[in-house]
Amino acid sequence: MARIELQNIAKAYGSVEVMRDINLTIEDGEFIVLVGPSGCGKSTLLRMIAGLEPITGGDFTIDGRRMNDVPPRDRDMAMVFQSYALYPHMDVSRNMGFSMEIRKAPEGERTSKVQEAAKTLGLTKLTGRLPRQLSGGQRQRVAMGRAIVRDPSAFLFDEPLSNLDAALRVEMRLEIARLHQRLKSTMIYVTHDQVEALTLADRIVVLNAGDIQQVGTPLDLYERPSNKFVAQFIGSPTMNILEVDQTEGGIRLKDGSVLQLDVSGSRQQASELGVRPEHLHIVSTGEAHMSGTAELVEHLGSDTNIHASVPGIGPVLVRQHGHFPLKAGESVGIAVDLEKAHLFGPDGRRLAA
Ligand code: ADP
Ligand code: MG
Repeated sequence: MARIELQNIAKAYGSVEVMRDINLTIEDGEFIVLVGPSGCGKSTLLRMIAGLEPITGGDFTIDGRRMNDVPPRDRDMAMVFQSYALYPHMDVSRNMGFSMEIRKAPEGERTSKVQEAAKTLGLTKLTGRLPRQLSGGQRQRVAMGRAIVRDPSAFLFDEPLSNLDAALRVEMRLEIARLHQRLKSTMIYVTHDQVEALTLADRIVVLNAGDIQQVGTPLDLYERPSNKFVAQFIGSPTMNILEVDQTEGGIRLKDGSVLQLDVSGSRQQASELGVRPEHLHIVSTGEAHMSGTAELVEHLGSDTNIHASVPGIGPVLVRQHGHFPLKAGESVGIAVDLEKAHLFGPDGRRLAA
């Protein structure tokens, strides 16, 4: 059981404030991902939750109890780091069971817990090895096993997959998802990788420069980003942002063409149009909202990315599903899926449809 609440949490290193007004409630059993660019404060926030870094403002509670000044060992949380942090002179079993050894748990209990965790993580045959006799992926599994053996009320992960190659990262990501399904514990997972965030999270917290930008389900963030930062951080390839003017009849692009988008309900004037590459389509000139030239065509097999240049507007990225027979240098008409387009005001906030 762990319902975690952060109320007006702030962090300063000396006189430098790196986080302010962090408000977040994490429900028992929830998988929360903290995502954002490097330096935005993800590790700092996780370390404050773990008790490894003092909280300089606000209230941090677990199941209603204030924990700001409770030492890490009494918070009942287990942390898994990017750097594994295994004891080099201890074999896999002893590394995994060490927390129980310190607690002086009976040996029989320790052995059964370690064996169970090793089985869960496919490490049974490796329990006698030292960390240096393991691959990166196996070491990361041992670090996860050590956390499982502690049987904590919450797991904290800080970029646990960043040191692994791409294929292994995908495999371990699935393993962490399965682990959450089986254990149903509260998990807080830090990453700079939006794909990890979208695939693992019940809810994602997007951070930028020490501030929460948005909290929501993966689909919320993809379909209804609250501002331009979230819109461009979530989704790959990244969303096209085009400058526009608001007119009587709709939204005017910089090449003079007008899109029939109704923004009459909004208090702010639209200044930019956001449209994801998958919501632009190559069409005949008659149906097009804008026309340009394909400058670069990437054939990825599952998709085709068309980097077009549109006079008056600039570069536009279109993503067609499947193989799209088009060569660099050809003229293209581009249509905007108006249902899926977003409008942003001068302050970067998304205007309500
Ligand atoms: P992230 O994990 O998102 O990459 P961090 O939480 O490590 O970011 O860092 C957030 C901010 O706090 C950064 O601007 C970083 O320079 C600063 N910071 C982190 N640790 C310290 C420290 N010990 N002393 C001073 N500033 C720090
Ligand atoms: Mg970090």
